[in-house]
Amino acid sequence: MLDVLVIGGGHAGCEAAAAAARRGAKVGLVTFRAEDIGQMSCNPSIGGVGKGHLVRELDVFGGLMARAADCSAIHRRMLNRSKGSAVHGPRVQADRRQFQQATKELLNETPVNMVIGEATEISIRCGRVLGVVVDGQTIAAAAVVLATGTFLDAQLYCGLKRIAGGRTGEKASLPLAAQLREWGVAQGRLKTGTPPRLDGRTIDWARTTPQPSDAESWSMSGLAAGPAREQLACAITRTTAVTHEVIRKNFGQSPLFSGAIEGRGPRYCPSIEDKIRRFGDRDGHQIFLEPEGLDTHLVYPNGISTSLPVDVQMAFVRTIAGLERAEIVRPGYAVEYEYVDARKLDSTLGHREIDGLFLCGQINGTTGYEEAAAQGLAAGLNAAAHALGVATHRFERRTSYIGVMIDDLTLQGVQEPYRMMTARAEYRLALRADNAVTRLGQNALALECVSPRQREAIESHFELRTRPEFAETDEGKADALYAPYVERQQREWAAVDRDMAIRIPGNFNYSLVPGLSAEAVEKLRLTGPESLEQASRIPGITPAALAALHVATTRRAA
Ligand SMILES: Cc1cc2nc3c(=O)[nH]c(=O)nc-3n(C[C@H](O)[C@H](O)[C@H](O)COP(=O)(O)OP(=O)(O)OC[C@H]3O[C@@H](n4cnc5c(N)ncnc54)[C@H](O)[C@@H]3O)c2cc1C
Repeated sequence: MLDVLVIGGGHAGCEAAAAAARRGAKVGLVTFRAEDIGQMSCNPSIGGVGKGHLVRELDVFGGLMARAADCSAIHRRMLNRSKGSAVHGPRVQADRRQFQQATKELLNETPVNMVIGEATEISIRCGRVLGVVVDGQTIAAAAVVLATGTFLDAQLYCGLKRIAGGRTGEKASLPLAAQLREWGVAQGRLKTGTPPRLDGRTIDWARTTPQPSDAESWSMSGLAAGPAREQLACAITRTTAVTHEVIRKNFGQSPLFSGAIEGRGPRYCPSIEDKIRRFGDRDGHQIFLEPEGLDTHLVYPNGISTSLPVDVQMAFVRTIAGLERAEIVRPGYAVEYEYVDARKLDSTLGHREIDGLFLCGQINGTTGYEEAAAQGLAAGLNAAAHALGVATHRFERRTSYIGVMIDDLTLQGVQEPYRMMTARAEYRLALRADNAVTRLGQNALALECVSPRQREAIESHFELRTRPEFAETDEGKADALYAPYVERQQREWAAVDRDMAIRIPGNFNYSLVPGLSAEAVEKLRLTGPESLEQASRIPGITPAALAALHVATTRRAA
C-alpha cells in the first residue's frame, strides 16, 4: 500500500509527488503518458512578477521548478528592475525539451513509483480515501493528491471546430470529472489558450526590436547557482491596424464570441481577439517573440493566444512587422475545462469532507505553471503528513506568496483563472523574491524536506546573515531600505494578533452565535475559517458579524 498516490504528472503533480517523497512517504504518481512529466503546455517560461516569488519559495523547500529552470534557461530577465526590490520578478525563458528532461531527472532523485495509465475513479468509503482505480485496477493509498490540470471533461477549440482533449493530441479525463460532479466538488468551467508557434527561420528579425538576456547572471534557485548555458535574445514587435481589422472581421468565427466557450479566460492573459474587442482603439499590442529552445526553430509569439480558425491565424500573423512571411508550424487553440470549488479545501489543500483527499494546481482554478507547482508542494507535504501521522504545514499569508494564494483560493474561491501578482499580497514589502530563504528556510529545515546539500545552503545563508558583510549584499541592502515599513507592519500585526489569532474549531456551530445573520452563518459554514483573522477576510463578513464571532469564540476559549 502507498502512503500517497498523486494523479497527474504536470507541474502540480510532479512537485506534490517529490515533496511527499522528500517528507518520507512511499509515493506513486499516475499519469496518462511518461512524456507528460514536466510538460509545458504553453509558453516555455518560468517566473515573472509574483510568479517568480512563488518559484523562489518553492525552491526553499527543495522544489524542482527553480532548479529545472536554471538547467534549461536560455534567456534571463529580472522584470521590474527599475522598481523597488520587493516587486522584482525573476523570469527565465527555458529550452522546452531541456526543462522537461531536467524535471524528469530531478523527480528521479526522489523515490517515486511511476504508473502510466488513466485514473478513472477515486475509491472512498465512509468519507475516507482508500485509493485510486487505474485502468481497472485499484491502487491502495492512505492519501490521494488530485492534480489533473486542464484535463477534466476538457474540450479543445480552433475556430468552429471542437474536439475532446486536455491538450492538443491528448485525451480528456471524463470518468473522474463525472465523479467530482457527483460529489458536488465541481464548480464550473474555465478556459485558457495558446498562440500559434512560428518557424523562426521565416521571421524577418531585422524588422523587430531585439531584447537581450540580462548581462549579469542570476539564478531562479536562491540556494544554488544555475549552470551557464548559451543565452538567446528575444524580440519585440506589435500588431497593426490591419491586424485588428482582420481579427475584427472574423469575430463570427471565434468560439469565444459565438457562445461555444462558456468558461471565463485569464483576465491578465487574454486572447488577441479578446484584446481587440475590449481595447480595439489602441494602435497596437506588443508581442514578444520568444525562442522555444537551442535545437529548435520554433518561436512562441507571446501576446497573440487565439482560438480563431487556422486560415485567420495565418492572415493576421502576416500583418505584423517582421512576420510578413512567417510560417505557422502549430496553430493556436483554446481549451475549456472543469475546475473545482477550492473553498471545499482547508489551508493544507485537503478536502474538508473527504478525509485523505488533497487537490492542487489548475484544477483549483489557478492558471500558470508556478501557481500549480507551489500548490503541489503544499499538497504533497500535507498528504505525506496525513499518511504518516505527522504534523501538517500551513503556509502563512504574512510570510509567503504560497500562503497568500492558498488563503485566497480556499477562502474566496475562484470565478476566473487565478494568477499570482504582487498586488495580492498585503505584506509584499516583506515578501521579496530575494529573501525567500530568510523567510522560509527555518520552516523547510523543521520539515526535513530538503537534501543535505540544500540544508547546508540554508544554514550557511543564516550564518551569513550574522556577519557584517551581509549588509553589503543585495538582500542586506534591501532589508535596510524596507526596515521602517516592515517594523511598522510588525507593530500592526502584533495588535491584530492579540484578537485575530483566536482559533475557530472545525466543528464550531455558527448558528448558535447570537447576532449572526443567516447569510453570515451560511458563509462561515461554507468557508470554514480556521481563525478570526481568516473570518475577517471572507467577503460579506461585516465588522458586526466579526464582533459577534469574536465574543462567541473568546468565551469558548476562556
Ligand atoms: C492550451 C493551453 C494554454 C495555456 N496557456 C497558459 C497561459 O497562457 N498562461 C498560463 O499561465 N498558463 C497557461 N496554461 C496553463 C498551464 O499549462 C497550467 O497552468 C499548468 O500546466 C497547470 O499545471 P497542472 O499540473 O495543474 O496541470 P497540467 O499541466 O495540465 O497537468 C495535468 C496532468 O494530469 C494528467 N492527467 C489528467 N487526468 C488524468 C487522469 N485521469 N489519469 C492520469 N493522468 C491524468 C495529464 O496527463 C497531465 O500530465 C495553458 C494550458 C493549456 C493546455
